[in-house]
Amino acid sequence: MALSGLHLLLTYQCTSECDHCFVWGSPWARATMPLSMIQEILDQADELGTVRSVFFEGGEPFLYYSTLLEGIRLATARGHWTGIVSNAFWATSRQDAFRALSRLVQAGLQGIQLSADRLHSPLKNDPRPRFAAEAAKDHHEAADPAPVLPILCCGAALLYP
Ligand code: SF4
Repeated sequence: MALSGLHLLLTYQCTSECDHCFVWGSPWARATMPLSMIQEILDQADELGTVRSVFFEGGEPFLYYSTLLEGIRLATARGHWTGIVSNAFWATSRQDAFRALSRLVQAGLQGIQLSADRLHSPLKNDPRPRFAAEAAKDHHEAADPAPVLPILCCGAALLYP
């Protein structure tokens, strides 16, 4: 079977500490992927010639925003579809979330998956995943031509009851 997608764990550090986390993400985890390693992995993907998509996740990838931004840029420049998995801790309002996504969208970001179900969001009625989803939708509608920016949410029913 050909390898068609990469999921890069930018860091094990996270603002949450979910019981089920398969990387044991937490605010105290420290390991972080440097840009040089991302470049090396993308070089290997080029050699393979079968990789089409690159996801950036963690831990929480927004904790290392400049590495995330440059990673999206590098993967896009090599012709890959790019996405992010995030718990949306950074989406303090719809407008702020729009701004946080702007540079990533300009760099080539095409998808964002929000970890927003009851297992990921201990805060009841936490509005941040909804703000992030709305901001992603705003980007999708504002762009000309519209980028593919699907909102693939765990627990979508929570966001759109
Ligand atoms: S939000 Fe995701 S990365 Fe963070 S601790 Fe929970 S499962 Fe792990």
